[in-house]
Amino acid sequence: MRARIEAASGRVGRDPRSVRLVAVTKGRSTAEVRALIAAGHRTLGENRVQDWRHVAAELADTTLSWHLVGHLQRNKVRQCRPFELIHSLDSERLALALEAEGAKHDHVFRTLLQVNLSGEETKHGVPAEAAAPLLARLSALEHVTVEGLMTMAPYDDDPNRARERARPVFRDARALAETLGLRELSMGMSGDFEAAVEEGATLVRIGAALFEGTTLSAEERP
Ligand SMILES: *Cc1c(COP(=O)(O)O)cnc(C)c1O
Repeated sequence: MRARIEAASGRVGRDPRSVRLVAVTKGRSTAEVRALIAAGHRTLGENRVQDWRHVAAELADTTLSWHLVGHLQRNKVRQCRPFELIHSLDSERLALALEAEGAKHDHVFRTLLQVNLSGEETKHGVPAEAAAPLLARLSALEHVTVEGLMTMAPYDDDPNRARERARPVFRDARALAETLGLRELSMGMSGDFEAAVEEGATLVRIGAALFEGTTLSAEERP
C-alpha cells in the first residue's frame, strides 16, 4: 500500500511523506488489528466510537494514534478525547458539544470538517457553500480546531466507474481547502486512494485493501 502511495505521489511530483495512511480497523478483530501493528501501522482509524472502545482497551499496551473517521453523535463526545484527529465534524451542533466537553477538561479537539461534495443524501457532511460561513463561526471556539477537510467519493458498485466519479470530487475538495486556507485533506479509500493522492490528499483512509489476501473468506475457513 505504501509503494502504491509512493508511486501515486511520484506521478504528480509530491513527497510521499506528505501523505499519511490511516489504517481503518472497522469491523476487524483484535488479532487483525495486531497484525496491522506488527506490519508497522501506528495510525489507526475507527468509524464508530463504541467499536473503538473495545479494540483500544485490548491494545492499551501499544502507543497508537487513533483517528475517528465515521459519523460522531453528540452524546458520544465524552469518549473522544483519546482521538488524535476527528475526521467527521459535520455540524455546528457537534462542534459546540465538543467545545463544551473540551472546556471541561482543558482539551483541544483537532478536527476536519466533513464536506459532502457528491450531493448524495446518504452522506454526512456540509455542502461546499456552507463550509466558509461555518468555519468562520467555529473559529471563535477555543477547544476545537479545524485543520482541514474530509470527503467521501460517491458510491458506485462498478469499481472503474467509481474511480472516474471520485476524481472530480477530490479535485473540488482540494480547491475548496485551498480557498479556505486549510492544510489537511482526508480523502481516498481502498478503491480510489491513488486518485486521491494524485489530487492532493494528505490523509488516506484505507481498510479493505490492507487485508486483501490476508483474511480467509467463509468458504476458505477450515
Ligand atoms: C470504512 C471506511 C473507510 C475505509 O474504507 P475501505 O473501502 O475499507 O478502504 C474510510 N473512511 C470511512 C469513513 C469509512 O467508514
